[in-house]
Formats: sequence, structure tokens, C-alpha cells
Amino acid sequence: MESESRPAVAVSACLLGENVRYDGSHKLDAWITGSLSSYVSLISFCPEIRMGLGSPRPTLHLTAENPVRMLETATGRDVSSLAHQASAQIFAELRNARCVAVILKSRSPSCGIEVSTRANASERPGSSPGIFAETLLHASGMLLVEETALQTETARHDFVEAVFALERFRCMETGTAALQAFHRKNEYLLMARDSTLCARLGKVAANSARLPGVEVMQQYRKELLSLFEKNLRNQAA
Ligand code: SF4
Repeated sequence: MESESRPAVAVSACLLGENVRYDGSHKLDAWITGSLSSYVSLISFCPEIRMGLGSPRPTLHLTAENPVRMLETATGRDVSSLAHQASAQIFAELRNARCVAVILKSRSPSCGIEVSTRANASERPGSSPGIFAETLLHASGMLLVEETALQTETARHDFVEAVFALERFRCMETGTAALQAFHRKNEYLLMARDSTLCARLGKVAANSARLPGVEVMQQYRKELLSLFEKNLRNQAA
């Protein structure tokens, strides 16, 4: 068992005030760099800088195809494979840093969780996760939230509580007994957010199918993340 530490939260670099956007600017979020930074360790990332595109850089967009591609808007240059490589590298770094949550810049073709796609004549415009967000959505095991969901006192409070609950979960022993103790300790916090999902978590923790400890903990973690994400999504601006 690991001892509990300051939770690590990864954040799109532009929200931390770094001048990494396509136009050389930033999108500083004062709550993240102020209050939140006094509770957690912030880890900065920028997929488009990692792609080697620099700042300022040409604007990018996602296509409405399947699979979605990332193109430079002015020239049509396809930068999808660069984007996937950069995303895989950053994802591995965030895992090594034991991040429990990621705050993503909304509407970015890299970081946004739901981004508009552009259609050609034979397609319909739609939406897709940005390339980096998609990598995280498929595999991360981290709490994913856009900054737009953290604009109220309630949402910020809920996010910090979720981050600390996830850090406690990360540090606890493996096994059904430890999981059940975790669930008992956090039951009121979870119930206050979603009583149905909390009851489902209780059933997973009960492990009536007698699954191996690692497996039941993976299932529980997945459900725990969806409870927190649903709660925060419902509060998005
Ligand atoms: S790629 Fe992400 S971190 Fe970089 S500027 Fe765009 S939104 Fe911000």
C-alpha cells in the first residue's frame, strides 16, 4: 500500500497561463492556478506543442470522417499521426506521474472532449473528442473534465472531493476487503452525487461473484469515474 500524497492533476497548458495557443496566447484559469494549486500538484501538457507545431501555429480542425483526421485548416496537411504520437507520449507521462484527474481545454481539436468536426460535400458535420482527449477516454482511468464544468463553487468543491477520493482509491491495498472499507467510508459522498450509481458501486464492492481482487477493483474504479464525471458534466456551463 502506498501512503497518500498530494494528488496529481494534469491540466492543458493554456489554462495554466502558458502562451501555447495557436495565436501565441493563453487561457489562464485563475481558479486552477490559484485555489486548486494549493491542494494538488499541477502537471502541464500541450499536445500541439508536443507535435512540434510551435506557437503561434496554423489553426487545426477535425474532419467528420471515420476515423476522424486532424488537418491544418489553411493547407489541408494531415497531422493526425503526429497528433496520435504526441498523445500517446503525454498519456504515458501522465500515467507515470500517477495523475488521478485531467482538466482539458474545451473546444480544442486536441484537448476538447466534444469538438465540432468539419464536413466535406459528402459528409455531415458532427462532433468528436479531440485527438488527445480520445486517447484518454479510451484508456486513462483518470477523471476527465473540461474547464467549462468547473465554473461554479459547487462544481469546484465536487471536483476537489473527487480528486481526493480517487487519490485514496489509488493508494489503498488491492482486494475486496479494502474495497469494501473504501466504499463504506465514501458512501455518503457518493450517494450525495448519484444514489443509483452509488448503489451500483455497493454491489460491485460486495463482489458476490467472487471475482479476483484486481478485477473487482478495476470495475469499481470505472464506475467511480463515471459517477464523478456524470456529476461534473451535469454542472457544465
Ligand atoms: S493543444 Fe490543448 S493545451 Fe495546447 S493550446 Fe490547445 S487546448 Fe491548450
